[in-house]
Amino acid sequence: MLNLASLCFPDREKSCFFCCPPIRDPEADPLDDIATRRAALRRNRRELEQNLASPREIPGDSCWGLGFLDDQEKQAGCLLHPLQNHGRDLRHLTGYQFKCANALCREAQVFSGLQENEKEFCLNLCRGMNSFTYSSRSNPLMQLLAWEEKMVGLIAGKHPAGLNRNDFTNAYGFLWRDLDFRLDGYLAVEIATRRDPDFLRERLTLYSGFRQNIIAKLKDLGADLAASSDSQCPSHCLAIPLSLSRLLKFGAGLWKLPLDSDTTILSLVNSEIDQFLKYT
Ligand code: SF4
Ligand code: SF4
Repeated sequence: MLNLASLCFPDREKSCFFCCPPIRDPEADPLDDIATRRAALRRNRRELEQNLASPREIPGDSCWGLGFLDDQEKQAGCLLHPLQNHGRDLRHLTGYQFKCANALCREAQVFSGLQENEKEFCLNLCRGMNSFTYSSRSNPLMQLLAWEEKMVGLIAGKHPAGLNRNDFTNAYGFLWRDLDFRLDGYLAVEIATRRDPDFLRERLTLYSGFRQNIIAKLKDLGADLAASSDSQCPSHCLAIPLSLSRLLKFGAGLWKLPLDSDTTILSLVNSEIDQFLKYT
């Protein structure tokens, strides 16, 4: 069994296999049709030798190299990975070695950047899960990690003794039930940083109105900026936080903006946040 201290392999009781195969439907979830998936993981472990004798390119929705890694069927993962084969990488046999070797989801990247106590807080939320519930993107931990390091740090910092999954979901489920990290990743994190994640939860209706208002102002500003400049760049290339560029794109529909518009945008958004906090 693998025993790597990572989001992919948090402990010996479970593992994540969400990203296999890397050419899969991004909406497919390990909790879809568990019985069929479990049978495939079991079959792939049992038939590995036969499959190695006649390897074939994988289709988009499954991989014959993905199987249970232990007899107890606790961890699931790549049977062709070098760590399973005395250092030999057999993933080329499925035709997608490069994609397989480079698949590292955003959640895993965020997790790897956390402090040890924050990682502990995160993994504590997943106690008792099996590999299917752990791998699912409905796993509250995966939902939290989508909000990136700052929000995880704020919440973990408020609860040094940790939280159980139910309490966590009751307190912070609004992050994925009522908010959307792509739209709210900048505004909500700024507000939670300056005040508190709980401050945000207790004012969700006001916050929602504030977000609509700021999106409208950004649209107006974007139209003015575009009219005064011939050269534009993708919004994510501006010298602003990536989370703010997502608000510009997914909230205000501003996919391109003049290169020198970063200061103007930051100044508008931050002054709106100041006003919101002053009068809320
Ligand atoms: S989806 Fe992310 S956490 Fe899961 S196995 Fe892939 S890289 Fe690891
Ligand atoms: S070869 Fe391994 S890493 Fe690649 S899709 Fe199959 S199980 Fe996943």
